[in-house]
Amino acid sequence: MSYLSLPESFFSRVAPTPVSEPKMIRLNEALAAKLGLSLDELKSPDGLSVLAGNKRFDGFEPFAMAYAGHQFGNWVPALGDGRAIQIGAVLDSEGNETSIQLKGAGPTPYSRQGDGRAAIGPVLREYILSEAMFSLGVPTTRALAAVTTGEAVYRDRPERGAILTRVAAGFVRVGTFEYFSARGQVDSVKALAEYVIVSRYPGLMDSPHPFRSLLGVVVESQADLIARWMHLGFIHGVMNTDNMSVMGETIDYGPCAFLDEYNPSKVFSSIDRFGRYAFQQQPNIGLWNLTRFAESLLPLLGENEDEAVEVAQSILGEFEGHFRSFYDAGMSKKLGLSSSNDQSRSLSSDLLELMGEASSDYTLTFRYLSSVLREGSVSSHRFRGLFKDPSGIESWLGRWQEVLRAEGVSDEVRSDRMLNVNPLFIPRNHRVQQVIDRFVEQDDLGPLESMLSVLSSPFVESARNMAYADPPEPSEVVRQTFCGT
Ligand code: AMP
Ligand code: MG
Repeated sequence: MSYLSLPESFFSRVAPTPVSEPKMIRLNEALAAKLGLSLDELKSPDGLSVLAGNKRFDGFEPFAMAYAGHQFGNWVPALGDGRAIQIGAVLDSEGNETSIQLKGAGPTPYSRQGDGRAAIGPVLREYILSEAMFSLGVPTTRALAAVTTGEAVYRDRPERGAILTRVAAGFVRVGTFEYFSARGQVDSVKALAEYVIVSRYPGLMDSPHPFRSLLGVVVESQADLIARWMHLGFIHGVMNTDNMSVMGETIDYGPCAFLDEYNPSKVFSSIDRFGRYAFQQQPNIGLWNLTRFAESLLPLLGENEDEAVEVAQSILGEFEGHFRSFYDAGMSKKLGLSSSNDQSRSLSSDLLELMGEASSDYTLTFRYLSSVLREGSVSSHRFRGLFKDPSGIESWLGRWQEVLRAEGVSDEVRSDRMLNVNPLFIPRNHRVQQVIDRFVEQDDLGPLESMLSVLSSPFVESARNMAYADPPEPSEVVRQTFCGT
């Protein structure tokens, strides 16, 4: 179903603004193939023109979407795609509807004071981070291409302009529902809900209460998504309701980052001064955003307001349980345990507490844990080296091994399982920054290519790539990340 079949108030027909001298930085060939796009065409001068916004995909009318949102808890009635323009829609090789959007394609009627453009740094950042998330198994928008525009964009200083082509199951956000709900346009909320059901959750069309089911499935998929972020130490950074997709995908990579040292209250984003979107806050904020979603759907959830509120509360009430079970199951797997129960929960929370005290590296702690089963191995030394106080971690290891023994799975099988869920390679902030700097300062794409290649197999150890696994040296630590808009 095309978004353009919805009423005119949902979008603005607007074409990208042409740029003077587009150049390809990178085309994601594997993704292009999955989308059924012709590589020859995308690599041709015409393809570059499409990815730069200078030319249209045949037969597609480009548009920007209207939405609103709660930003850091404050209501903003009109946001919308201020610098993103949808340029296509395809069915991928699995038959899933996929929307293609240019980010940084020039002003739209929703640009407010903005220039509609993007700078090279944030474009490369989103490319790297979103593709890394995909390889880590997290639902996400993906990066199809990045180009430079040949034009400067002005932020704190002039920077090179760039455009990211990103693809998603759809770009409908919680804030899209809020936009119509706040205007009292119940028919539009209904049309939008129907659009999301048909295009993303067609199985719900047969439900006796499709809109209740929609709320239910969005609640569950967000619980799953945020649990996956927590397993990997990912901090989104700007979980405003306009940056939460109802399609169940991670979207709008701004000042997001992966934890190096474990610190549950960690914040990277320069604009998150009060820690609203700190690491451990993410499940609570997810529920807060879903509550805004449920409020927007209220007129569709019951015969009268009392019934609708009761239904909404009951479905929202399931979030906590969903999140707990996704989170606990994933943490059990990280520990190599076959089931999730009180014992695994206390092992996981006690380990996190020791990690917090030691500020141990989040990724490497879990990665090296399996090697403790092979006494004397290098990684087993490394694991112990991550903790300052040996007695605490030794006593935890004793408890853990006792549970493992009781489960009776061979060490080899268990170790394999653990290495398949605990990545060695994540997009470390300092590395991402180095890759961006190298391209910006020396036009050198080598480091970007190497990094993308390493991150495409995050669970596979390779002696050549070990430098990518290293946490930052003290002088390399990135303390803050920026939206760069
Ligand atoms: P974000 O914080 O990136 O999710 O953006 C919040 C809102 O600001 C969205 O409506 C964006 O489309 C808009 N926006 C961000 N940067 C720009 C820009 N350079 N030009 C126009 N709109 C922008
Ligand atoms: Mg956004």
